[in-house]
Amino acid sequence: MSEWSGLEAFDDIERLIIVAAHPDDLETLCGGTVALLVQRGVSVFSVNCTLGDIGTQDAATTRPAVATTRLQEAEEAARILGIEQVASLGHHDGELVADLELRAQIARLYRSTQADTLFTFDPYWAGQIHPDHRAAGQAALDAYMPSKMPLYRPEQLREPGACLGCLKRVFLFSTAREPDVAIEVAAVYDTKLAACMAHRSQFPKGLESLEWMQSMDERNGETAGGIARAELFKRMEVW
Ligand SMILES: [Zn+2]
Repeated sequence: MSEWSGLEAFDDIERLIIVAAHPDDLETLCGGTVALLVQRGVSVFSVNCTLGDIGTQDAATTRPAVATTRLQEAEEAARILGIEQVASLGHHDGELVADLELRAQIARLYRSTQADTLFTFDPYWAGQIHPDHRAAGQAALDAYMPSKMPLYRPEQLREPGACLGCLKRVFLFSTAREPDVAIEVAAVYDTKLAACMAHRSQFPKGLESLEWMQSMDERNGETAGGIARAELFKRMEVW
């Protein structure tokens, strides 16, 4: 049985970058943790690899229209959570590939944000059915080492404020592969729900559309041993 850590696992975080695939991933999977870290003064940067532009059941709309709506919703959710900056890498939803271009886009953001810690999807969890989630996590991990090497895409290092080697901690979310950090999020759950409900196109019935997430967070709490609502992470040993 694994030993669980709580919020103290994140004590050293000052600047956090979160690499997700779609505009509502961060909010639903780690929105409570982000709210707690922002309260503590952590600067948070959000990266969405795709535009979320197939995220609709309305076959009569267009992908650019969906993308515009979802970018606006992501900005509103970021304001609610206190996220400093939302970056969209502009890839098409449902077609994300962890290729060299995506790796370089993410590495550039590791450098320019001066982030010390990364949260991303666990690309190795066998239960991850969404290919974009696997690709975002894989590309985020693949960008980690090159971002520390001065000869990798050196033009990025000439940008103002670019940092070589600031990033030094990695935690994976959306994983059932022996998570070992459980964050109790009940105290900030209203904020998490408000940020999720900013994604009106995804959750048109408000709270009712988010019952699955509340059940997931309750299950996570049970998994971690008697926490009301929890978000789970897996610490990755990196250097
Ligand atoms: Zn997603």
